[in-house]
Amino acid sequence: MGLLFLQSLPGPKVFKCRCCKVDSAPHDAIVSKNFSGRYGPAYLINRVVNITMGPSEDRHLMTGWHTVNDIFCSCCQQLLGWKYEKAYDDSQKYKEGRFVLEKARVMKIG
Ligand SMILES: [Zn+2]
Repeated sequence: MGLLFLQSLPGPKVFKCRCCKVDSAPHDAIVSKNFSGRYGPAYLINRVVNITMGPSEDRHLMTGWHTVNDIFCSCCQQLLGWKYEKAYDDSQKYKEGRFVLEKARVMKIG
């Protein structure tokens, strides 16, 4: 095992991994609170920390084809959501570079 470098976010309002309580994202990075993840409601968010990314894959989501990477907590490895790498539909381009964070996998602090 290599050393794990974990980033702390300035509080008080942050999301933490529900499993290991490591910081996952700042509240003020939320773009939308009404997204759907794989496990139910999710956030669309600009920035996440302490994640590792899975391989790129093309996935057909409710809004069409996207290239995405699954994102995992870098501390406990639980699946937190995914990153939109590329959207094929012009109306979905705003998602590129942003992340979907499963509400069920994080907890809201502050
Ligand atoms: Zn975790």
